[in-house]
Amino acid sequence: MSNAAYQLLEGTAEDTAVPIPANILIVDDDLAYAHLVSRYATQQYRYAMIDICNNSKEAIDHCLSKQYDVLLIDYNLPDLTGSKFLHKLQSEIDDLPPPAIVLTAEGGASAAGEALRANAYDFLPKQLVNRDSLGRSMKNAIIKHGLQRSIRLRTIELEQANRTLQEKSREIRDFYQTVSHEVKTPLAANQEFVSLVRDEVLGPITDEQAEALDYALASCNQISTHFNDLVEMTRLDAGKVTLHKKWISVACLLKRTMASCARAIEERGTNVVVLPCDSEACDLHVDGDRIIQVLSNLLSNAIKYTDPDGDIEISIDNNDITIRFCVRDSGCGIDEKYTNSIFNRLYQVTEMNHEHSGAGLGLGLSIARELVVLHEGKIWVESEIGIGSRFYVELPRLKM
Ligand code: ADP
Repeated sequence: MSNAAYQLLEGTAEDTAVPIPANILIVDDDLAYAHLVSRYATQQYRYAMIDICNNSKEAIDHCLSKQYDVLLIDYNLPDLTGSKFLHKLQSEIDDLPPPAIVLTAEGGASAAGEALRANAYDFLPKQLVNRDSLGRSMKNAIIKHGLQRSIRLRTIELEQANRTLQEKSREIRDFYQTVSHEVKTPLAANQEFVSLVRDEVLGPITDEQAEALDYALASCNQISTHFNDLVEMTRLDAGKVTLHKKWISVACLLKRTMASCARAIEERGTNVVVLPCDSEACDLHVDGDRIIQVLSNLLSNAIKYTDPDGDIEISIDNNDITIRFCVRDSGCGIDEKYTNSIFNRLYQVTEMNHEHSGAGLGLGLSIARELVVLHEGKIWVESEIGIGSRFYVELPRLKM
């Protein structure tokens, strides 16, 4: 689009603030008609520069060497139809091509449809072309083209912003991963040394010292869990988590889940029961470690959010197609309005009045959901404040 196209027309109220075309290209092998159109165009836009050519090749050369504000194209060019010309023009020009109005002596609705599909801005039967109809059509084409151009520029800006955000997000992921790895090793060493002192391997300690070291160990464990969650989240984001699926029995999954939470169960003193059922005998084709990670997360949350005198139950239900694990607790429960959000990253129920609220990072359930989805399964919760929660994990069953 040449600069002059956005000059404002002074004069009649109707035309105020309307862009005017400065450069117009007419492509028609009927030179007499081309000159007639040129006259209509100059009657409408006195200062417009008009070029005329009679075939598509020349027209494309013109468009590559000069910026036109409007193209007026005969539908039946000697070497191409108007629509094919527009397609060709589009493939030759990197930018948005100038707006084109297709003029035709015959052709009817199908030619009009074809031209509009080829991104013509308008289609005018030649017998209806006059100063006013051509002026109106050119004005509309320029306005529409201006809008398309700003949408295109906006899209380019948004794509650029998106790329920048992706880049930033990758940097943040890399940063999390590096920091986590850098912290984990000294943290593990720290845990080891504190344990040595706590277990009196290096000499006797007082009860008071033992208690202080227990706190230190619990804090180390908490930091380590947070870092593990952060690393896991960044690995999931980067698509670096691949499942290593093998056949594993439900009984084994449950046993290992219970083992991974044994310490928490013992420390909290809550009663956890695995309800016996036939499904325990069935095998699943899953990444066992990942499913145990999901179930352990549900179980450790249940332990966290249930008072020691409450109870927790794990049950399984299956049919030919799916198997469903349920971790039920009689804990504080979750308000229905939060039951979807808690699976979102970093989400924690702020209104929760519980000793453990805010203790985690709010990543556990979002990681669990991503792992379940990777297994083509579903995870959800049913809960009632003051009564407790039931977290369900449903996985597809494959036949052996
Ligand atoms: P967090 O590390 O905060 O526990 P999660 O993603 O595991 O992160 O859980 C998100 C939020 O969901 C928790 O902060 C808590 O508010 C709520 N929540 C999860 N499990 C339970 C549960 N069994 N009972 C009550 N609230 C729960």
